[in-house]
Amino acid sequence: LQRRLRQSERLESLGQLAGGIAHDFNNLLGIINGYAGMCATDVEELAPDEPEWRRLRADLLEIVAAGDRAAGLTRQLLAFARADSVVELRVVDVNAVVTDVERLLRRTLGEDIALRTNLTGDPALVKGDVGRLEQILVNLAVNARDAMPQGGALTIDTDVVAVDDHYAAQHPGARPGRYVRLRVSDTGAGMSRETLERAFEPFFTTKPVGQGTGLGLATIYGIVTQLGGHAQIYSELGHGTTVGVLLPVTEETADAAGAAAAPPEPGAG
Ligand code: ADP
Repeated sequence: LQRRLRQSERLESLGQLAGGIAHDFNNLLGIINGYAGMCATDVEELAPDEPEWRRLRADLLEIVAAGDRAAGLTRQLLAFARADSVVELRVVDVNAVVTDVERLLRRTLGEDIALRTNLTGDPALVKGDVGRLEQILVNLAVNARDAMPQGGALTIDTDVVAVDDHYAAQHPGARPGRYVRLRVSDTGAGMSRETLERAFEPFFTTKPVGQGTGLGLATIYGIVTQLGGHAQIYSELGHGTTVGVLLPVTEETADAAGAAAAPPEPGAG
C-alpha cells in the first residue's frame, strides 16, 4: 500500500511538471515547425532542380518530421498530466465506448492483428469521462501492437464482477464492490518479471528512444485511480499480456450524450 501511495504522490508531482513543460514546449515546437516548413517550401520554389537546394530542402523536412514526433511526445505528456486531474464525470456505458473507438483501434493495430470484442449484455455503466476511457483503450492497443510485431490477436472483453474482501486483500488498491471490468488481451511478447513490476511507473519503458515514453500505462493508472477503480496486469513471457481495468458500477442511468465525444489521438503507449 505504501508503495502505491508513494507512486501516486510521485505521479501527481510528475504530472504537474510534465503538463507545464509540455504545454510551453508545444507552443515552441509549433513555431519551429512552422518556420522550417515555410523554409522548405521557399527552397523548393526558389531552385527546384539544384542538388544543393534539394539537400537543404530534405534537411528542413527532417526538422519538420522530428518536430512532429516531438509534438506527439508532448501530447502524451499532456495526457499523462491530465490523467488524474478532476473532470466532470458522467454516466458512461463502457460497451458503447469500446464500440465507438473500435475503428480507430483497428487502424492503430494494422492488418496483421485481429481485433475481437466480447461485450457483456449487462449494463456496463460507470461514472467516468468518455475521452479518458477511450484513452485507456488507445494506449492499450498501442502497447499490444508493439508487443505483436509479427501479428496476432487483440481481444477486448467487458463484464460485471464483484470484488470481495479476499480479492481486495490480495490486490493493493482494490476495494470490495461491484465493477465493470474491461480486459484487453494480446498474444504478444509478454513481460519479464522486472517489467511487470515496473510497468505502471511513469517513464519506465523497454522501448528504444523515440518509440517509448513510458507514459502509456502510467496514464492509465492515473485515470483509473481517479475514477475510483483498479488496474491489474497479467503477463507471461512469450505468451501475451492481459490488462484488466475495474471501474465501479454506477446505479445511475445512462446519459444519452454519454459516448459521443471525439476519440483521442493514437500514439500514446
Ligand atoms: P511505453 O509503451 O511507452 O514503453 P508504457 O507505460 O505503456 O510505456 O509501457 C511500459 C512498458 O511495459 C513497455 O515499455 C513494455 O516493456 C511493457 N508493456 C506494456 N504493455 C505491454 C504489452 N501489451 N505486452 C508486452 N509488454 C508490454
